[in-house]
Amino acid sequence: MRRDLLWPWARKILHTIMLISLISTIQATCLAAVDTSLNEKYPAFNLSSMDLSIHPGDDFHSYVNGKWIENNPVPADKPWYSEFIVVDDRTTERIRMIVEQAANNTSAKDGSVEQKIGLFYRTGLDTATIDRQGLVPLQEELDRIDSITTTADVQRVSDHLLSYYIIRPFFSFFAYPDSKNSQITIAWLSQSGLGLPDRDYYFRQDNESMKTREDYLDHVAKMFVLLGDSPENASRNAKTILRMETRLANSSFTNVENRDAVKTYNRMTLQEIEALAPGFNWRQFLSDLGYPGIEEINVNQPAFVKGLSDMMQTETVDDWKTFLRWKLIRASAPYLGSEFENESFDFIYRKLYGQEQMEPRWKRVLSTESAFLGEPIGQLYVQKYFAPESKAEMEEMASNLKKAFRFRLMNLTWMENSTKARALEKLEAMQVKVGYPDKWQNYTGMVIKNDSYIENVFRAGNFIFNHGAFGLDKVGKPVDRDTWFDPPQDVNAYAYPEMNAIFFPAGILQPPFFNPDADDAINYGAIGFNIGHEIIHGFDDQGRKFDANGNLTDWWTARDSAAFNNSTRILVDQYNKFEALPGLFVNGNLTLGENIADLGGLTVAYYAYQQTLQGEPEKIDGFTGNQRFFLGYAQFRRESIRNESLRTLVLTDVHSPSRFRTNGVVFNMPEFYQAFPEIKPGDKLYRPAEERAAIW
Ligand SMILES: [Zn+2]
Repeated sequence: MRRDLLWPWARKILHTIMLISLISTIQATCLAAVDTSLNEKYPAFNLSSMDLSIHPGDDFHSYVNGKWIENNPVPADKPWYSEFIVVDDRTTERIRMIVEQAANNTSAKDGSVEQKIGLFYRTGLDTATIDRQGLVPLQEELDRIDSITTTADVQRVSDHLLSYYIIRPFFSFFAYPDSKNSQITIAWLSQSGLGLPDRDYYFRQDNESMKTREDYLDHVAKMFVLLGDSPENASRNAKTILRMETRLANSSFTNVENRDAVKTYNRMTLQEIEALAPGFNWRQFLSDLGYPGIEEINVNQPAFVKGLSDMMQTETVDDWKTFLRWKLIRASAPYLGSEFENESFDFIYRKLYGQEQMEPRWKRVLSTESAFLGEPIGQLYVQKYFAPESKAEMEEMASNLKKAFRFRLMNLTWMENSTKARALEKLEAMQVKVGYPDKWQNYTGMVIKNDSYIENVFRAGNFIFNHGAFGLDKVGKPVDRDTWFDPPQDVNAYAYPEMNAIFFPAGILQPPFFNPDADDAINYGAIGFNIGHEIIHGFDDQGRKFDANGNLTDWWTARDSAAFNNSTRILVDQYNKFEALPGLFVNGNLTLGENIADLGGLTVAYYAYQQTLQGEPEKIDGFTGNQRFFLGYAQFRRESIRNESLRTLVLTDVHSPSRFRTNGVVFNMPEFYQAFPEIKPGDKLYRPAEERAAIW
């Protein structure tokens, strides 16, 4: 799970496969050799994970994973448990060694990245100092809010808080390629400012949602008490927060609208923004942040900016002060003393995700540190744990996947030749990035000190805000195609449509996703699928709107667009019917891009696997190669999940829950029925051919 500060920018620029100097200054002498001692052999596939009492046609996900799910309940300190968590835990243990080595190195050069890594970690682990300091490190910010007397002051202070990166009082503001001219970086502005996970949480009228709002009021009030307010004032302030956030939510886009690449592209001049939202002083805003030269902004949600402007003109200064105190304490709490961190955990993790306990302190600190120093830590990580041959193997596999998709594209019957030619051109141009960036970012300017954890978080955040991969100092400059937006140790993969590039960080290139000890069938069902999934993101309902150069432009004939939309509608209807919890259904529109990528990705991986075969492979454990391909896919999807987490993810995540990502995909594929001839009409999940979705 992404921690709060990593919650995605409101515009979904990340498409992930699951539900963060020149560093030559680093003293890496003893890290030079790749250490594979932690690479224990990982079985390709474990029969004992299967539940053979389940008929595969009734529930393939449980047939493959039933016993594993039964034997692997969610640990107390996790929201769910899955292969991603297993690999993430393994990776985190390795990072711990790297970071502790840095922290123990008392002779690290002053200002070196190694020193920054070590100091950040040390201040994070020093809970005695953090508890003793209490609110002292926040006092300057609290005083700043306290001294506000006008609406203009409200804005000045919110501008200041925004520059710490982890606090987004109203919106996020960052640099990213211009979707319609993807060679140039422009400024983006995207709605934020809500304490609940999504705008719909403020309006749903079901019992669970009303309970969540009650819990939220209670949580906000407790935080105000911790800030020193009387219980009466705290409770009144909590109501003010819920009222104001509801107003912000009311002008916010829905999560389905936020997926829409066209609807969220609104490049506006300052004059246009001023005309739309005169209640906010935009020139002051840019000048406060140190970027008075910015003349145009891509406003993702114009309605939100208008709504914020109206609020600026009608809310009282006192209520804004309450609002800013809340934004400050909400974002800071995880890095303050235990009573603040406990209260923050209680609402965000326990109430919303059902997690019973916090992870150990060192893990929480590393997770925070990875959000700010992810790339420098990743540089040390790949030196030690990423074998160069993995990169070559992965590149070869990606090339096989591209080849398989090229063949399918050429033979598509529903697409006209002119569109096909553009699609092929896009596929050829798509860059596949594996392992780690060729060029590392410069972190020399990040200031990390020995004084306090939260101040390190603010200073590091300020550096990322200005100089990170999305940092505002990139506005107006050509897009650097060598930039990675996520650190190499991330156990994840991404597609960035404006770059026409897909990324496979070193973190995902580990067993069981990428397993040197597994047969091709299992590997093509796992990492092969992952590559296919990211490729197909370039051709999902949003990705297809970008051309070979990553520009948002319509290269489809009207007939082909209509045909595409007709087949994707089948998928929307199918997923809308998946019931995750009693009465809680998957949102087929919210998850459409991922579902297209899953179906297309597994299909392409299947045909890439066929290309590797020289004759019929021998059965392993009684299963044919084609069966093992599907077993491999279902296996890496295995997951135990708490009901609270499931609910929150269904309402907010662009990915469908795990078991629907297995069953929802395979029962659409004719190749699956061929592999398992025992699946017949009448089985619970059997889909007759005419009801199956086929897109790519
Ligand atoms: Zn995806």
